[in-house]
Amino acid sequence: MKIVKKSNEIKTILKKYQSYGFVPTMGALHEGHKSLIRKCKKQNKITVVSIFLNPKQFTNKEDLKKYPSNIKKDISICKSLKVNFLFIPSFKEVYSFKTKKFKYPKIEKILEEKYRPGHFIGVIKVIDKLISIVPAKKMYLGEKDYQQIKVISDYLKINKTNIKIIKCNTIRYKNGLAISSRNKRLNNKGLFNASKIINFVKKFKKNNQNKIFNQKKLKDLLDSKKIKYDYIENINLQKFIRSKRISKNTKLFIAYYVNNIRLIDNI
Ligand code: AMP
Repeated sequence: MKIVKKSNEIKTILKKYQSYGFVPTMGALHEGHKSLIRKCKKQNKITVVSIFLNPKQFTNKEDLKKYPSNIKKDISICKSLKVNFLFIPSFKEVYSFKTKKFKYPKIEKILEEKYRPGHFIGVIKVIDKLISIVPAKKMYLGEKDYQQIKVISDYLKINKTNIKIIKCNTIRYKNGLAISSRNKRLNNKGLFNASKIINFVKKFKKNNQNKIFNQKKLKDLLDSKKIKYDYIENINLQKFIRSKRISKNTKLFIAYYVNNIRLIDNI
């Protein structure tokens, strides 16, 4: 595995290869990231992983400050997975890289865009830079951040790039909780409480399959359990809009808090 820190260097190296897959991350790698890397390894001869904690997508300074980071461990994980190139740029390397002017997609004011306005603008800014530096044909993204997939795929479409997004399943602990870098800030009790919330939503969904989504009832139930949340919405995955009925085409999207740590999931 070769570690590269300079944008021009990785770009030049990659010119030698016809195709390669790309897994962008913000580090603090866990089983979720590993599954993306494994999928990329299976589908491509060459796998490029980036680790870049993008400040532009953080709408809360404290959240950025407390975001976990363990670069040594990340490097050893990537080595053990036989990643070919690990790109670890500085802020300057990413943002001073010149890219063409691009169009922003329309971002619906639902879910994260409603509660963290500006977050996806920051995501698009970094993706625009990263795909110019690492112009892969396939980019591997996790369904845990489903709205992010939607926004990035709209961005890729309206800017007429031919990059394909490969969606990857959400990896969970045995207790149902989605694995997330922010989980590293929770103790065992916090992790248990988070899993209880997710299993509660899962059960609600199961009991209401093919029924009208009674958002008020679900919100009242969450309130009665003193669960703090920003939103709980039933979303049609194809159109990415709110849906009245719970069905196989919809998922329940939630942003909730455990010990003041904000977690998102879709079930
Ligand atoms: P992040 O480092 O949080 O920006 O995540 C990098 C990529 O890993 C994103 O495409 C995420 O959606 C994906 N990811 C994060 N957690 C998981 C998970 N538990 N299962 C699958 N993919 C994940």
